[in-house]
Amino acid sequence: MALLTVLEFPDPRLRTIAEPVEHVDDALRQVIDDMFETMYDAPGIGLAATQVNIHRQIITIDVSEDSDEPLVLINPSFESISDELEQMQEGCLSVPGFYEEIKRPNHIRVKALDRNGESFEMEAHDLLAVCIQHEIDHLNGKLFVDYLSNLKRSRIRSKLEKIHKLEQSN
Ligand SMILES: [Zn+2]
Repeated sequence: MALLTVLEFPDPRLRTIAEPVEHVDDALRQVIDDMFETMYDAPGIGLAATQVNIHRQIITIDVSEDSDEPLVLINPSFESISDELEQMQEGCLSVPGFYEEIKRPNHIRVKALDRNGESFEMEAHDLLAVCIQHEIDHLNGKLFVDYLSNLKRSRIRSKLEKIHKLEQSN
């Protein structure tokens, strides 16, 4: 197992569109295990492969209190999305230190492959629904800051750029 480096906004690689996974094999399961390790270490409740510079459609999630309900979605797609929206505070390992209220559909149905390559469908509500949508956005090169006003997004951008510059000069 290995900890992976998480890309941070405004890194342009976060805008890459992930490719579908063709074969679920041991090499892919290794990537999934590394993603879980990186996510739990951060700590975070969700991670998309895009965030660790692997541009394939893989997301890892665990919204349980005890971090003991790992969920992996490979090639996820929406089967249905509710009209009802819910506002929740979101954060992101790629936008560290910033939390903003975002409105999203609060009930979704998704289809994906599991870590054995078997197809499954699941329903998700509330936090899990939000988390899955947030991670699927990553696979499409989209970040939660894209839902904010230009002003808010550029403030976050310049604060993070300052931090990144400091980190480089150290
Ligand atoms: Zn994120």
